[in-house]
Amino acid sequence: MQKKPEYSLPFELPSNFSSGFSSDLYEQWDKPARQAQISAVALLTAFLYIIIGFIDKPWASEQAQALMLTVHWFLIAPVLLTISFLAYKNWFYSFVKPVLALAPVLAMLCHAYVLSKLGHYAPFLAEGYLCVFWTFIVSGATFRWAIGSASISSIILLVSGFYTINSLDIYVMHVFWVFCSFSFGFLGALIFLRLKKINFMTQRELLHMAVTDELTGAFNRNHLNSILSHEMARDLRYDNKFGLLIVDIDYFKNINDSFGHAVGDEVLLKTAQVLSRSIRSSDTLVRWGGEEFVIIAIEVDEEALRHLCENLRLSIEGAHYSSVEKVTVSIGATLFRKNDTQDRLLLRADKALYEAKEKGRNRTAYKIDPG
Ligand code: GH3
Ligand code: MG
Ligand code: MG
Repeated sequence: MQKKPEYSLPFELPSNFSSGFSSDLYEQWDKPARQAQISAVALLTAFLYIIIGFIDKPWASEQAQALMLTVHWFLIAPVLLTISFLAYKNWFYSFVKPVLALAPVLAMLCHAYVLSKLGHYAPFLAEGYLCVFWTFIVSGATFRWAIGSASISSIILLVSGFYTINSLDIYVMHVFWVFCSFSFGFLGALIFLRLKKINFMTQRELLHMAVTDELTGAFNRNHLNSILSHEMARDLRYDNKFGLLIVDIDYFKNINDSFGHAVGDEVLLKTAQVLSRSIRSSDTLVRWGGEEFVIIAIEVDEEALRHLCENLRLSIEGAHYSSVEKVTVSIGATLFRKNDTQDRLLLRADKALYEAKEKGRNRTAYKIDPG
């Protein structure tokens, strides 16, 4: 039977959402795009305020036209241009949030003042409704700041309309349009926010899946290249030595043959867990293939490397496996050399592993001497 599709309201987050969500990481992820949006939108809006100065307004008196021009060209447009610049300059980003929230409020105060000077206000009213909508949907303000800013703007619109609009019927329509622009803006911003958060989580999940081995939870082979490139660059730049280990479970095929594949999988998982617990959090555990793991241990010298390998080998030997009496590993270990490529480094560790196996297993062989 076909599974019924699940529906949720567009502003609801999935029920399991909060478990893996981190606000800090979301902010970090969201910041560059938001910053670009704020900068571009503020610039565009400043230009629109400049353009409105060129439009003929025969419905307003000469005096009111001059007032509008002054307010639009010399107050609102410069504020918007400043916001655009601040958002563009990354280090000013923390100032942008409050200034961006204040700008529409300032615009609405000016709007109220101009409104009071206009006998024929109808063509001018739309600016107020658009401003509320702009704050929520277009500006790039975060949801909370947008709510605060749009609420104050709406109150200014309602109060100024009350004193300026001289017909009750038109004032009722004005209240209705303010209500519409606020509620549409609010809902739209909520839906945007939800979609962004879901997009963020989906990207994180996909990234996690792309670099993680499903069975053991260790990183997978795809990820090894990028970690190695990163560490090699760091070593060359800062001379931070790192070591590479290949850890291979001894006689693993026998475990599969004697107890079955499921027990083999259990042994792989447990081994990965013990290895993961025995390395430092800055080191990296990768499932290299079947029953082989690669460990990249950063900032180690020969002595620390030997200590780590012995510790890992003994941890596995001493670990309690529920279905198998004893598991041992052989390890091939090496240190990165300046002229190494990834292949050369891995090949050297692999040769060391081969030696460890040759010498009887449950031991470590090293290839450390330069050349
Ligand atoms: P050695 O001591 O020389 O390393 O011998 P070994 O038996 O450990 O090595 P060999 O390469 O002969 O066998 C590895 C086995 O690992 C063969 C393969 O079927 C098994 N294997 C690979 N991937 C998985 C897996 O995901 N789960 C299980 N259960 N077994 C796997
Ligand atoms: Mg093997
Ligand atoms: Mg093996």
